[in-house]
Amino acid sequence: MTKYAIVGFGCAGYHGAREIRANDPEGEITVYSEHALAPYNPMLTTYYAGGRLAYEGAFPFGSMEEIARQLDLTVHQGVRVAKIHGRSREVELEDGSRRVYDRILIATGARAFAPPIPGLRPERALMMRTMDDAVRLRETLERRPVRSAIVVGASMVGIKVVELLTARGIQTSLLDLAPGIFPLAAYPETAREIEGRIAGQGVELHFGASIARTEETADGTLRCSLTDGEFREVELVVLCIGTRANTALVNPEEIRIHRGIVVGPRMETGCPGIYAAGDCCEGGDLQAGDTKIIGLWANAGHQGGTAGRNMAGAEGIFTGNILHNITHFMGMDFIGMGDNRRRGETLVCGTPEGAGLYIRAEVEQGSLAGVNILDDYRVSGAIKNYFYRLLTQGHVSLAPVQRGILLREGLRPGFIKRLEEMIR
Ligand SMILES: Cc1cc2nc3c(=O)[nH]c(=O)nc-3n(C[C@H](O)[C@H](O)[C@H](O)COP(=O)(O)OP(=O)(O)OC[C@H]3O[C@@H](n4cnc5c(N)ncnc54)[C@H](O)[C@@H]3O)c2cc1C
Repeated sequence: MTKYAIVGFGCAGYHGAREIRANDPEGEITVYSEHALAPYNPMLTTYYAGGRLAYEGAFPFGSMEEIARQLDLTVHQGVRVAKIHGRSREVELEDGSRRVYDRILIATGARAFAPPIPGLRPERALMMRTMDDAVRLRETLERRPVRSAIVVGASMVGIKVVELLTARGIQTSLLDLAPGIFPLAAYPETAREIEGRIAGQGVELHFGASIARTEETADGTLRCSLTDGEFREVELVVLCIGTRANTALVNPEEIRIHRGIVVGPRMETGCPGIYAAGDCCEGGDLQAGDTKIIGLWANAGHQGGTAGRNMAGAEGIFTGNILHNITHFMGMDFIGMGDNRRRGETLVCGTPEGAGLYIRAEVEQGSLAGVNILDDYRVSGAIKNYFYRLLTQGHVSLAPVQRGILLREGLRPGFIKRLEEMIR
C-alpha cells in the first residue's frame, strides 16, 4: 500500500488528495496542516473581514470531518512540517519526530510578506492572506470606530481591502511605490481610468511612495511619514505588499528553488517522489517559456489535481499557464492577461471611460503579448482560452461559440479578425 503525504491543505492540497483517492482507492493518505481549519479560499478573506460573508462561507469544500471521511484521509491538524528529507523519504515535524512517506505533495502556498516599518508594532501592521488575518481585521474594525486608514500595495489584494474599508465609510489612502495601480497587470492607460474611478469614490491614491516610519500616539493614532516626505495620520494600516512562497521545509540541496519550488509538467520536483503544486511552486509560464509562480486559485486546483494523478500512477500533464487576474471591485471588473511590460502595436476596442466593454491588447512582433479588459468579465474566458491555445498550438482560430460571445458583448469584427491573425 502506497503511503502518500500532503503538506498544506488549501486548494492545491485538497485537489491533490481528491485525485490521489480517485486513482488509488487503497493508498494511505496523510495530511499535515499547520492550522485547525478546513481548506479555505483566501480570495474570500476580504469578504469575511468586511462583513459581507459568514465565516463558514469561506470553506468551499466543506468541513474537515466531511472531507476526511469522503476521501479517507488521516489528518494531522495544527501540525507544521519543519523539513522534508527527500533521500530518506521522511517528513520531520516541528517537535522533531519523523514520519515516512512514499510520495509527497508540497502544497504549502504562500504567506503575506511586508518588510518591517520602523515604529509600527507587528500588532498594528495588519495583512491579508489567512482567515486569521481576516478575523484580526474584522475585530479591529468592530472593536471601535475606525475613521481613516492607509493600505500599502495597489495589488489585487490591496484593492479588495480598500473596497471593504471604503464600504464602511473609512477615509482610505492607497499607497504604492509603483507609478500606478495594478503595476504587474494593467497598462498605464487602463490604470489611469481605474484610478480616476476609485478616486471618484473618495479614495486617496498616492503613488511613488510608501510608509517610511510611523509613530504611535497615546490614543493609538499612527503618524506615518511617507518615503516622499509627505505625512498622514491614520488609525489603521494594512500592508498588502506581496507574498512569499512557503518553501522553508524544502532542502535546496535536494530540490531546486527559485522564487518557488521548481516543478515540471507532471508537477514533480527533481527529487524522486516529491511533488509541489499551487502558490508554493513555479510551474510553466507559457508566455515566457520558463517557470513562474502563478498565484491563482484555479491554477492551484489544476496543479494539485495533476500532482495527485501522477502520484497515484495515473497520467497528468499541466502544460503551464498565463499570468491572469480577474478582479471585481468597487463596481468594476478588471481583467489582466499576459505580460504587461511587453508592448508593440496596440489594438483597442471601446474607450476606457466609455460605458461598456473596453479591451486593450498589445501585439509584439505578430504575437499577443497581453490583454487588459475593463467592465466585461464575460469575454475573459474566450480570450484567455484563445491566448492559451495560441501559446500551446500556434496559430489558431476562435471557436464559433467564442466568436459569438465576443460579438454579442460588443467586440468589433475588425478587432476579432486582428486577434485571429496572431501567431505564437
Ligand atoms: C485577498 C486575496 C485575494 C485573492 N484573489 C484572487 C483572485 O481574485 N483570483 C485568483 O485566482 N486568486 C486569488 N487569490 C489567490 C488564491 O487565493 C491562491 O492562489 C490560492 O488560494 C493558492 O492555493 P494554495 O493551496 O496553493 O495555497 P494556500 O491557500 O495558501 O494553502 C496552503 C496551506 O498550507 C499550509 N501550510 C503552509 N506551510 C505549512 C507547513 N510547513 N506545514 C503544514 N501546513 C502548512 C497553510 O497554512 C495553508 O493552509 C487571492 C488571494 C488573497 C489572499
